[in-house]
Amino acid sequence: MPVRLPDADQDFIGPYNRLSASQVNTWKACPRLWYYEKVLRFVMPQIPILFVGRAVEEAICKTLKETPALIVGAAPADIYAETPLDANGRPDREYEQRWPAEQLLVLPESKWPMDIDSLQHWANQRVRSHLAVCLENMRIDWLKHDRKAGDWDKDVDVERCIKMALNGIKMHMSEVKACLGLVSDEELNSWRKGSREHWPAPDGRGYAMDGHPLAQTGSISLIEAWEIARPWFVDPDAKPFMMNAVHPEHWFQGEYDLVYRWGGQNKIVDIKASLGNSDRSGDYVQQMRMYAYLWWSTHDKQRIDALEIWYLAADAIKTIDVPSVQELETIGEELKALWSDLREETPSIERCPPEPAPMRSFGPGGVPSEETPNLTRCQRCDWSHVCPTGGFDKEHPDGGMYHLPGMV
Ligand code: SF4
Repeated sequence: MPVRLPDADQDFIGPYNRLSASQVNTWKACPRLWYYEKVLRFVMPQIPILFVGRAVEEAICKTLKETPALIVGAAPADIYAETPLDANGRPDREYEQRWPAEQLLVLPESKWPMDIDSLQHWANQRVRSHLAVCLENMRIDWLKHDRKAGDWDKDVDVERCIKMALNGIKMHMSEVKACLGLVSDEELNSWRKGSREHWPAPDGRGYAMDGHPLAQTGSISLIEAWEIARPWFVDPDAKPFMMNAVHPEHWFQGEYDLVYRWGGQNKIVDIKASLGNSDRSGDYVQQMRMYAYLWWSTHDKQRIDALEIWYLAADAIKTIDVPSVQELETIGEELKALWSDLREETPSIERCPPEPAPMRSFGPGGVPSEETPNLTRCQRCDWSHVCPTGGFDKEHPDGGMYHLPGMV
């Protein structure tokens, strides 16, 4: 299951003291950097590019949630009503009225895409429509942020955003095509009867159904492949951070972007709205290995089948080797030890030395490169002006304040 909720009776750690992949990667990049961001809570300057990535991912997820059996390509972006949520902000398991998809009439079959190209055309229309709205919403969020930096109009390249969103749709269409050719009769029949996962892929429908309303007869249709291939992702209407996978001992958590489950195979995909040619591509590999551990530890020691990073700006998919059982055990031991060091009790600044790891080089698509990085980690660090190793050589005056970068 892509979501694993904490056990309220056993969770003595709580959501704010769990370790996450981003914390681990920050610590490994530089312990002092971790201290600044996770203990002193310095917030990095909120540049538009951070918001753009969220907009592109959200536009893709909103498109995947829809179906061309209900929605024409030119329909408004808000055609689906909001998903009903429970008190915790998750899609409501007890909701008994009509879900958003059930409030729309099924289109005549003559309006459905009849081949892969027309399905892709429909999806492209939908993602463009959603992206325009998501970008505008993010621009408003950015404007309101008290740590905003940069210039939205100059820094956001809308055409580049559209290209990334279309690339994401293209990557998903490969799954649809594969599903069309490979899905088993057993899986197809089970879907037609209305079988749902405990955490279904968000499709505007509820948790249970008696026969799928879009089921057809005979061999699998294009619409059925679109429905069956749909991955799990966080419903864009859900409250943030409510759909995490939490380790059974509660000390680690993560939130997957996409989890494909058709064909009896589980694949975790992380979406990156970037080229993948920076030091961070090294972090992403480690993030996926930690996700593989999280999956294993929340699925009775069953390994995930595949791990992928989608670099949307490079139009490239990077496949990450799934760690062996021995590697997973080692990852778990290291993570637990790190949680104990960092989160069980907050370490002092002395225990978080300014020791930056060397920068790594990657080409587009996260391909490792031999090139020497242009900048050192300290040269590109947001906190170099308050860090001794970054060049800050003054004593902080009692009662003084740091002025952090960004329009505060
Ligand atoms: S300036 Fe260098 S040493 Fe200091 S926090 Fe940043 S990366 Fe670490």
